[in-house]
Amino acid sequence: MSQLYNNQPLLDQLAKALDREKLHHANLVSSGPGEEGLVIGLALAARILCDTQNHCGACKSCKQASVLQHPDLHFSFPFVSGGTSGTADDFLTDFRGALGENKYLDPDSWQQKITSKNQQLQIPIKEIQNIHKKLSLTAASGKNRVLLLWMPEQIKKQASNKLLKLIEEPLPKTYIILITHRKSRLLPTIVSRCAPWHCKPLEEGHFLVHFNDQPEATAKLLAMVFAPNLGAAISASEDAESTQIDVFAHWMRTCYRGAPTEISEVVTSLSGLTKEALKILIFRSQHFLERGFYHNIQNTPVQATDLGAINVQKLSSAVRPSGAMAISRVLNACLYDLERNIHVKTALTFASFELHKAFRGN
Ligand SMILES: [Zn+2]
Repeated sequence: MSQLYNNQPLLDQLAKALDREKLHHANLVSSGPGEEGLVIGLALAARILCDTQNHCGACKSCKQASVLQHPDLHFSFPFVSGGTSGTADDFLTDFRGALGENKYLDPDSWQQKITSKNQQLQIPIKEIQNIHKKLSLTAASGKNRVLLLWMPEQIKKQASNKLLKLIEEPLPKTYIILITHRKSRLLPTIVSRCAPWHCKPLEEGHFLVHFNDQPEATAKLLAMVFAPNLGAAISASEDAESTQIDVFAHWMRTCYRGAPTEISEVVTSLSGLTKEALKILIFRSQHFLERGFYHNIQNTPVQATDLGAINVQKLSSAVRPSGAMAISRVLNACLYDLERNIHVKTALTFASFELHKAFRGN
């Protein structure tokens, strides 16, 4: 059997249990955020739903499952308030889209996909009631069905007991797959009633393989900053023209001017972002700037679409090539500090003053 996943042995073990009709009706898969938890959970769901029970990949069910559109594959996941029904159904299209773009979807990338604010992701009681309602109906196909619930750790406390009830009273031909990134935050009663499965973490090598279409230096930087969170690395490497570029542009302009009170303000607002969001912001922006400097050095015009909200050309023409390298070094060091859990405000303040020096060429 080919090694599609880092956790292929785990998936094989689950598939074997399914073949022998020994798969527990409730499974708890744990992995780090942005690692293989969702990937393995989805692969297991596809095997459960396959019409030949052989993960043929060719039957109608396999095809539907591969595009996350099987009528007996139910998704539940944390979301933000503001939807019309107050359930995950409001965000189902976004969820399918996000997973389609990034199968290693991590909580921060998901949050950024559905909200521009720092709203907390949660699974409210209404969502658990909605799951109960869906599972009380008969399966559309009359065969197996699956509930894949991502991040049960985000379930509100009162709702946890409702989920427990669902797990304690198994329904015929119904499998529950819980994917958690923080098992310690789950109710012990939920954990004890599920079959536990643990994904091995991803390593730098997996990043280099995943990003083999990128320059090696980029792949290595992605691994250094984000490993083992491959999902965050994928988000960072895509979509360079994210709206957050103007946040970065504002920060750079402030550093350029170098007024301490302004720097302190911008640092306060930046430290309101989650750490993962901040790393993605800096990583993307660094590449963005490097592209600008490159064009400037080559003396070729930068296309407006390359620029987004930041005037890279203006900024980069104010900086000598040696300054560009210094800026790149400061941003790298800042990413490294965030990775090492240095206090966020301290790291950003230090980086801001170092950037000011780099802009001024000293
Ligand atoms: Zn099939």
